[in-house]
Amino acid sequence: MYHRTTGNRTGAYSYLICGRRPFARAELKGSYEYPAINGTVDFFATPAGIVVSSEVFNLPYDEEKPCSSQIYGFHIHKVGKCTGGEEPFSDAGEHFDKDDCQHPYHSGDLPPLFGNHGYAWSAVLSDRFSPEDVVGRSVIVHLHADDMHTAPSGNSGRRIACGIIMGV
Ligand SMILES: [Zn+2]
Repeated sequence: MYHRTTGNRTGAYSYLICGRRPFARAELKGSYEYPAINGTVDFFATPAGIVVSSEVFNLPYDEEKPCSSQIYGFHIHKVGKCTGGEEPFSDAGEHFDKDDCQHPYHSGDLPPLFGNHGYAWSAVLSDRFSPEDVVGRSVIVHLHADDMHTAPSGNSGRRIACGIIMGV
């Protein structure tokens, strides 16, 4: 059954985060393959859930291919470590999940980022996790779009940026 938890307000972004401060932030940095990527992911607690607001710069794209993917998988991963070997950020582990769900129903699954000539901005509301659930974990940006189906990570390709979610 559908119901709205915020009364009859229209749930506008400005209403959800206006006057609030983020309780946590992740500073994104690119992998050794994409060192120019940087950005910030802010987490705001609201009565309806947590707003995850992201701004990312220098995402890779191909100017010559207008139909090539400029969509980047975006998830909260289990472990707050942005280290790894040949496979970037492998120490971040798999998607954060507290209810034994499958992708894309993991607690930490988020809509992908949409690139705009290398720049992405997005905000999404999720009630799949609490502040305590996510501080100390990591956010990862992937090279490809998330197909919202394939286990365990939506076939979204290599990890290109990572940030540890730290309390503000
Ligand atoms: Zn997932």
